[in-house]
Amino acid sequence: MKLFGVEIDERPREEIFKDVIRRVDSSRRTFVITANAVIMLKAKEDMRYRKALMEADLVVPDGTGIVVTARFKRKRIGKYPGVELAKDLIDEGIKRGWKFYLLGAKEEVVSKLAEDLKREGLNVCGYHHGYFEGKGPVEEIVIKEPDVVLVAMGVPKQELWIHENIHRFDKGLFMGVGGTFDVLAGFKKRAPRWMIRAGLEWLYRISQDPKRWKVFFKLMKFFFCAILDRS
Ligand code: UDP
Repeated sequence: MKLFGVEIDERPREEIFKDVIRRVDSSRRTFVITANAVIMLKAKEDMRYRKALMEADLVVPDGTGIVVTARFKRKRIGKYPGVELAKDLIDEGIKRGWKFYLLGAKEEVVSKLAEDLKREGLNVCGYHHGYFEGKGPVEEIVIKEPDVVLVAMGVPKQELWIHENIHRFDKGLFMGVGGTFDVLAGFKKRAPRWMIRAGLEWLYRISQDPKRWKVFFKLMKFFFCAILDRS
C-alpha cells in the first residue's frame, strides 16, 4: 500500500520476518522503518524525512492507524509492532549468533539492556546512549561490523541518523525502535494485552505520559490526510 509516496509492506508478519532473517544472514545492508501514524504524518509534512522513508528497504506497519487506513482503502494488512519485531530479532540473534549494537535511550537504560541481553546469550558488541551532538558513535559502530543495529532515539531523530549514516556500512540491518529499549530494560511497561488487541496502545502511552497528548491530534490529522491521499 502506498501512502504519501511511501510503500508500506503488505505481507503477513511471518513473511516479513523471514525476509528480515534472510537479509541479515546474507549480510545485505537493510534499512527497516516501523511505520505508525506519527511517522507517516511526519513523512507527509517533512520532505527530508519522507526521502529517508522512500529510500528504506522495508516499511513495516507498526501502528493501528496504518491498519485502519488500509481497511478504508480496501486492503487487509496486519500489524507488526516495532517492539515485537525487535524482540523477534533478538531471539533469532541469540540462536544464530548475530552481533548487535544498541544505540539510543538514556545511559542507564541502554547499559542495563546490554547487560541483560548479554546474560541471555546475545552477542552485544557495543552500545551508546542517544543523547549526543553530531554523528555520535558512528566510527565505533563501523569498526565493530554489527549484523543488527537497533536505534532508539525517537522520531524523527532515529530514522534521520540511519539515513545519514547507513552508507558508511557494508552490511547490517538498521532499525529505528522508539521507546523499545525502555520497555525491554524494564523501565517502562507496554500496554495491557487487551489494549494492544483493541488497537489502543497509543492511548495507554498518553495515559502514562500526558505530555504525549499531542499524539491524539496527530492521529486524527493522519487519518484525515491518509484517507484523502491518492499516492
Ligand atoms: N531518545 C534519545 N535521544 C534523544 C531523544 C530521545 O535517545 O535525543 C530516546 C528516549 O530516551 C527514548 C526513545 O528515544 O528511549 C524515544 O522514545 P519515544 O517513546 O518517545 O519514541 P517515539 O514515540 O518517538 O517512537
